[in-house]
Amino acid sequence: MSASLSGGARAVARCDLLGSAPYSDMPGGLYRGYLTPAYWAACERLAAWMDDAGMQVRCDPAANCIGRYEGTIANAPALLIGSHIDSVRDGGRYDGPLGILLGIECVAALHRAGRRLPFPIEVIAFGDEEGSRFPAAMLTSRAVAGTLAAEALDMADAEGVALAALIDPVTYLDAARAPGTTLAYLEAHIEQGPLLEAEGLAVATVTGIAAQLRLQLTVTGMAGHAGTTTMPLRRDALAGAAEMILAVERIARDDASDLVATVGRIEALPGAANVIAGAVRCTIDIRSGDIERRDRAADAIVEAIAAIAEARGLQSVIEPVHDLPASPCDPALMNLMDAALAAAGQLPRRIVSGAGHDAMVMAALCPTAMLFVRCRGGISHNPAEHVDPADAEIALQGMLGFIDRLGATFEPA
Ligand SMILES: [Zn+2]
Repeated sequence: MSASLSGGARAVARCDLLGSAPYSDMPGGLYRGYLTPAYWAACERLAAWMDDAGMQVRCDPAANCIGRYEGTIANAPALLIGSHIDSVRDGGRYDGPLGILLGIECVAALHRAGRRLPFPIEVIAFGDEEGSRFPAAMLTSRAVAGTLAAEALDMADAEGVALAALIDPVTYLDAARAPGTTLAYLEAHIEQGPLLEAEGLAVATVTGIAAQLRLQLTVTGMAGHAGTTTMPLRRDALAGAAEMILAVERIARDDASDLVATVGRIEALPGAANVIAGAVRCTIDIRSGDIERRDRAADAIVEAIAAIAEARGLQSVIEPVHDLPASPCDPALMNLMDAALAAAGQLPRRIVSGAGHDAMVMAALCPTAMLFVRCRGGISHNPAEHVDPADAEIALQGMLGFIDRLGATFEPA
């Protein structure tokens, strides 16, 4: 790779290199599951790049690849910079790796300049964020944050390969970082949405991960013959569910905020062309950076569904599936990031992340900061995922400015 590339362009080029064999387990596309041959190949490649950038490299008991660049003050807590190296099946090349490669570029730039911060910097490649191999997500950041339970390791992938057969479950939780040893966690990630592109911005400061509520809706009516049941006599669960789904959409639209609500899965029973649907099951996913806003919307949705059911002579039952609180980024770190981006010539912009990231797990351990990088068309979890090298360079300058500012405000214990 040419030495004349900017750090941002080099990070993008390295994501591209990691997008195919031997760093992918899928011919003609990218799939890198946790602890697969492609996974280990990618860790080996990252370790070599970390070494080139002046870092001491280790693999922790959860198989996270970590590079450490010492600071000037002994025993100072480390700034952790990272993201995930695993991918979804037939995924994009930048979702995860970009944040790791930009972290390596931060250290490479400091190393080239012969500079050290008061605190050490560690770049971490988390092994499992997507949960695309084992039936659990964010396994490795939960291990590092110390929030993973040993029972969670007792699982197997779709082929029946036990996690414990691939990695030592006895030492796994030793990946936890001792409280007080981590100054902050910084993650750059592609936006995975269309907002930055629509606004003509390369990057934005992330305010946090949205609170998410997942509900299961069951609508029950009366199954009947599609040819003989006259329209006034019907109690059609599917037509009722359709009206309910439109109500979900309308309530979220009318809020005109960061609130989003989605019915992404629907099942009609008995599911035959000549039978009026007697029951429908569907999911409702509601998210906002503001949990009160989310819960107000959820209340409005529940009320609207009940009214529609009543008017149509249907029964509706709503059960919670999961309820994740918002994970706000640290306000002081957000200010440092805003200042760093402004110094890099960017208009200030803050956005909430509708998607989950390792940062939300790391928030249990230390203050967190996130930076979003524009991706073309907002497309992600798709081979068409694309990041402009110039945007990655702006992100890199923002991260370096953030590190400088963190260094200037650092007070040793
Ligand atoms: Zn990701």
